[in-house]
Amino acid sequence: MRWQGREGSDNVEDRRGAGGGGGGGRGGGLLGIIVLLVGAYYGVDLSGIVGGVPQIGGSAPVAREQPAQRSAQEQELTQISKVVLRETEKVWSDYFHRHGAHYRMPKMVLYDDRTHTACGTGNASAGPFYCPADQKLYIDLSFYNTMKHELGAEGDAAFAYVLAHEVGHHVQTVLGTIEKVHRAQQRVGKREANALSVRLELQADCYAGLWAHYAQKDGLFEAGDIEEAYNAAEAVGDDRLQQRAQGYTVPHTYTHGTSAQRKQWFQRGLHTGDIEQCDTFK
Ligand SMILES: [Zn+2]
Repeated sequence: MRWQGREGSDNVEDRRGAGGGGGGGRGGGLLGIIVLLVGAYYGVDLSGIVGGVPQIGGSAPVAREQPAQRSAQEQELTQISKVVLRETEKVWSDYFHRHGAHYRMPKMVLYDDRTHTACGTGNASAGPFYCPADQKLYIDLSFYNTMKHELGAEGDAAFAYVLAHEVGHHVQTVLGTIEKVHRAQQRVGKREANALSVRLELQADCYAGLWAHYAQKDGLFEAGDIEEAYNAAEAVGDDRLQQRAQGYTVPHTYTHGTSAQRKQWFQRGLHTGDIEQCDTFK
């Protein structure tokens, strides 16, 4: 990506080095996990592979043993994240404006390991996530290494896809979709709730694609970047993650969609640049 020299967003809250937990504490952590399980936050959700591959959460401590390397890579990732967030602000502000509406920008929180959120304690091992209750995206930058080493999705554009997906959840919040779906989920059984979750997640993928459509026009991407983003969308498909974690798949437990679906919806947003084409609830 051509991120160097580009404007970064100021809507960033840096909690790194805050000592973990961010005020959550042990009790808060347990309560947080309960809140997270009822689906109040929306993220990549790697909890499946975390169970199967215990060392995945260890990527941050390993990086800390090499402070110089960590800081160089982290500085770069920090800047990339700010630039991507700024690009989403530009694209979505323009898009809302063209449709006679105002885009309320989200905040991006950078943290290490664990942090307090309005949705409970956020744990980096589950991957980046968005909390509708405080309208913030939570990112532990070590996820870049998790993507590269554990998920086989390397590169800045792969990382950008994940950020744009989380911003997609913010757009769903602004449009009232998340609240509507969350209410519907409380009225149905587990299977149907999962199916609704899949539709919500695929829509966030389509929104990420819509963002990429306009970011591409803005000259952000270089050769190979779109392929990197496709590869990342496939890498976080439920079938791929479950196969990796437990050696088999259980489709009715899917909450994010298969690799093929995630790529397909990202592609749809990318090709059309039209939010009407992202109606996964039809
Ligand atoms: Zn999501």
